[in-house]
Amino acid sequence: EDTIRRQEEGLPSITVDGKEIHLFANVGSTEDVKKAMSFQIDGIGLYRSEFLYLSSTHLPTEEEQFMAYKEAAVLCGKEITIRTLDIGGDKTLPYLPMEKEENPFLGWRAIRISLEEKDLFKTQLRAILRASAYGKIRIMLPMIISLEELLKAKEILRECMGELTEEGIAYDTAIRTGVMIETPASVLCAEELAAEADFFSIGTNDLTQYLLAVDRGNAKIAKLYNSFHPAVLRSIRMVAQAAHRHGIEAGMCGEFAGNEKATKLLIGLGLDELSMTPAKLAEIKYNLRRISYKEAIGLADEVCKLGTIEEVMNILI
Ligand code: PEP
Ligand code: MG
Repeated sequence: EDTIRRQEEGLPSITVDGKEIHLFANVGSTEDVKKAMSFQIDGIGLYRSEFLYLSSTHLPTEEEQFMAYKEAAVLCGKEITIRTLDIGGDKTLPYLPMEKEENPFLGWRAIRISLEEKDLFKTQLRAILRASAYGKIRIMLPMIISLEELLKAKEILRECMGELTEEGIAYDTAIRTGVMIETPASVLCAEELAAEADFFSIGTNDLTQYLLAVDRGNAKIAKLYNSFHPAVLRSIRMVAQAAHRHGIEAGMCGEFAGNEKATKLLIGLGLDELSMTPAKLAEIKYNLRRISYKEAIGLADEVCKLGTIEEVMNILI
């Protein structure tokens, strides 16, 4: 089976009945990009830019970030999705003062920081925009809970574009801005968000945590943390449907996208792209090429009627 898997690495990620699913990789650094692309995939679905910040002793300058994103985009050679800074929660930066919080995962995190620290956000957006002249970059916003946040972020992006135009610096004027769907609010407002976003990517790591009110890092309640929970599955379907009604793609970049037990279901629920840790790519592609899209839709219809994780698991096996 291993040999077959290797032989199939260069083949398209497509179901037996011809439904194309984009396979993407999640990466944390520029070095990761090269390794991930050796799997012959469609691109990078999640570049976690916070690692650039975490590995630095100071706030990375526009130039430093530009060099990193440009290198990543060039190495990728295909579509690369750069997520804007996602700190707070469990990650803090030594050079960015943050008050100690009672509930950091419900606190000053991700897009909330970016919208408040406008200079920090603009530095990152300018760097991404400049790099977009050298590759196919799309921007992804983490932890969105409202349309206002998306509109505010897009307004700041436009401001950066205006500046660069005035300075005569090249960038991709058609760069796309997507939303990470990882809060319950973004699921319930998916319709409005889809009208303004260029793509969705579901972050099941956080979405599971927030939907189920189960801390993703707490071993004591790890048994309760399960993305096969009907609430998570129904949310995925809602989000995919809202995306498609507005003509945008729905992807997934949480760990669940690389869960081999979930692949058929996820495709049936309507996802167009799966982005995962590179280690899972070969196996998921192999499985995907043996799935019937038609059957997957039937499976998803059945699963969405089920009320317990146990019933879901029974039908999947
Ligand atoms: C997620 O929440 O599913 C996700 C992909 O982002 P992170 O794991 O970096 O929070
Ligand atoms: Mg997340």
